[in-house]
Formats: sequence, C-alpha cells, structure tokens
Amino acid sequence: MTRIVPVGLGARAYEVVIGEGVLDEAGQRLLPFLKNRRVAVVSDETVWRLHGARLSGVLDRSGIDVSPVIVPPGEQTKSFEGLADVCDRLLALELDRGDVVVAFGGGVVGDLAGFAAAIYKRGVDFVQIPTTLLAQVDSSVGGKTAIDTPRGKNLLGAFHQPRLVLADLEVLGALPDREMRAGYAEIVKYGLLGDFAFFEWLEANGRHVLARDPDALTHAVARSVEMKAEIVAEDEKEQGRRALLNLGHTFGHALESETGYGEALLHGEAVAAGMSLAFHFSASQGLCPAQDASRAQAAIAAAGLPTRLADIPGSPFAAERLVRHMAQDKKAEGGRLTFILARAIGEAFVARDVPAYAVRDFLLAEGAAA
Ligand code: NAD
Repeated sequence: MTRIVPVGLGARAYEVVIGEGVLDEAGQRLLPFLKNRRVAVVSDETVWRLHGARLSGVLDRSGIDVSPVIVPPGEQTKSFEGLADVCDRLLALELDRGDVVVAFGGGVVGDLAGFAAAIYKRGVDFVQIPTTLLAQVDSSVGGKTAIDTPRGKNLLGAFHQPRLVLADLEVLGALPDREMRAGYAEIVKYGLLGDFAFFEWLEANGRHVLARDPDALTHAVARSVEMKAEIVAEDEKEQGRRALLNLGHTFGHALESETGYGEALLHGEAVAAGMSLAFHFSASQGLCPAQDASRAQAAIAAAGLPTRLADIPGSPFAAERLVRHMAQDKKAEGGRLTFILARAIGEAFVARDVPAYAVRDFLLAEGAAA
C-alpha cells in the first residue's frame, strides 16, 4: 500500500510518496513539476547499475528525456571536487532553470545533487528518489544539502527543499544488510526522541523491518517520515525543535571523526552508538532513569548496532580527543557543548550548556582512554 506524507512548508510544501514499486510511477509523478520533458539524474555507479535501466525506462515511457550524471559511490564524492564535477556536467548538458535535477541514490547522492541544484544557475528544482533506508527515513526529507570539506563534514551547504520525494521500498531489496541496519538506527531515533509508542512497536517489530517485510517496512518508514515532516514544518531552518533530530549526533560525529568517516563506522552506526551514549550520559546526570538508558541500548543492540565505545573499531579513544571533536561540531555555540539529551524514552530535549568536564568524566567511565 502506498502512503503519502505531506511536508507542510507553505509555498514549498511537497509530498513524500512511500511504497513498494513507486519507482514505476516516477514518470507520472514527475510530470507536473517539469516545464520541459527533461531531467538530469544524478546517481552513483552502484545504484545506476542496479536500478538505472528501470528508472530510465519508466521516465522514457512518460516521454521524459533522461541525462544521467553518474558519480563514484561513497562519502568522498560529497566533496568540493565532486560538486564541481556535477555542476560542470549539468552545465555541459545546458540544463536550464526550467529543468529538474533528480537525486537517485543514498544520502551522499541526495546531499550532493541537492546542493548542486541549490546553486546551479542560482537554484533549480530537484526531486529525491532515495535508495537507502537511511535516505528514505532521513536525508531525503527536510531540505538539508551539503558537502564535506577537509575541515569537517557537511560544513558547506544550503537549505533547498525537494519538490517531491519518491521512496520505493522495493529498491532496498539489494541494499547490503549493514546499510539496512545503519538506516534502522535513524528509525529508532524517531522513537527515542519523541514517540514512545513507536519505540515499543520497534522493540516488537524491528526484526521484521530489518528483514524487509513490506508491511513492517512501510509502517516504519512512513512513521519516521511523518515525524521528520512534522518537525521540519515547524522549524525548517533548525532554530529550535529540529535540533532534536540530532539525537546521538554529537557523540556520533566525534566517533566518525576518530574513525575517518569511512567503512570502519557508517554514519548510522555512529548515530546508534551516539544515541545509546546520549541516554547513558543523561542517566549519569540524573536527567533520565537508568532503566530507560538500558532499554534504549537493548533496542539498538538487538538490531546488531554498536552501543558502547568498546564496540567501535579503533577503541579505546582518548576522552580528550572526543571532547575536542565535540567542541568543533558546528552545533557547539560559544564553546559550550550542545547535546540532545533525554528525560525518558520518547522525551528528548536540547541541552545547550553541557560542561565539557562532565562529558569527559562520563567518557572515562565508559572506557575512553585518559
Ligand atoms: P550512501 O549514499 O553512501 O549509500 C550507502 C551505499 O549503499 C553506497 O555504496 C551506495 O552506492 C549503496 N546503495 C545505495 N542504494 C542502494 C541500493 N538500493 N541497493 C544497493 N546498494 C545501494 O550512504 P547513506 O547512508 O544513504 O547516506 C549517508 C550520507 O547521508 C552521509 O553523507 C550523511 O552526512 C548524509 N545525511 C544527510 C542528512 C540530511 O538531512 N541531508 C541526514 C542524514 C545523513
């Protein structure tokens, strides 16, 4: 069954269409957004090899001309060089302001193509067709686009909302299990940050989601997107409540910095460990019952995801280095550390004044090196 979740952003409102086989409707769903029957599809080599012919065929049958812009897979493509390459190829295609860029891939392609669309000739429309679970439940919705620089991740970017998001659950069939688990971490995040009933549903049904059971997957993706859409509609530019979506990210980014943003630790895995640490840190500060922290950890671990520092390749890390990464995080304001902490499962809040020493002590108690 197809589910449609609206993202209520006034003149920039759009729909997220979720279901098995929605890719087959791509032509009909895209047509209303096209001034010319022409799109540039940015995708990575892996996704294009697996699903490119299907998307091209579907668009072709609707009379839409497809120009593929294929990039290498992996985080390193989300760079200045990767952006320059994509923009140059869009220019070579003589794409004009009335044409549409389609991002067909995971979060890397979505962030890169979205940013290119935001700056190409001062902005063209773009459509997201996310092909990883992480991209379907998180990165394709909300309009954050970015590239990495040698100084850090996602430091250059723009808010640029897509005109449409098509999340076909069938394309997850060939997604490696590890990528499924990484995406699942972001699904658990929604339960942990704001919906206890959804968290309980995931405790009972998480294994069906990971096994790609169509009904379980549809519910989990739709509920996640609903929560993200609701938060984004309320706080598009992250002035307040949207920051809750960063649950697990301050600890997670520090771990990603230590492990080099690569295969050793995927973004979703870093978020998984980061969420467990955020709950345990909240408990250590007397903000949240210890049993909630244990329960959050158990739900994350049950999905085969890391939950403690010792689970991360390269551990032990020096507590001081981890805190330094956190202080460099772009969410750190005026030297104070900002964390998303919790009062309970389903009740996260933004803590803007967390002292570095408390975090250091906690990390040491967690087994970080002195
Ligand atoms: P990714 O785009 O690198 O995809 C992971 C891997 O899966 C790649 O090798 C890709 O080729 C492959 N793949 C994609 N779809 C596939 C499919 N259907 N079948 C088989 N293989 C497939 O990684 P990701 O986890 O999707 O995204 C991570 C990125 O998303 C990070 O750069 C992160 O910063 C970004 N992100 C952005 C936001 C946002 O709001 N903009 C939110 C969260 C994460």
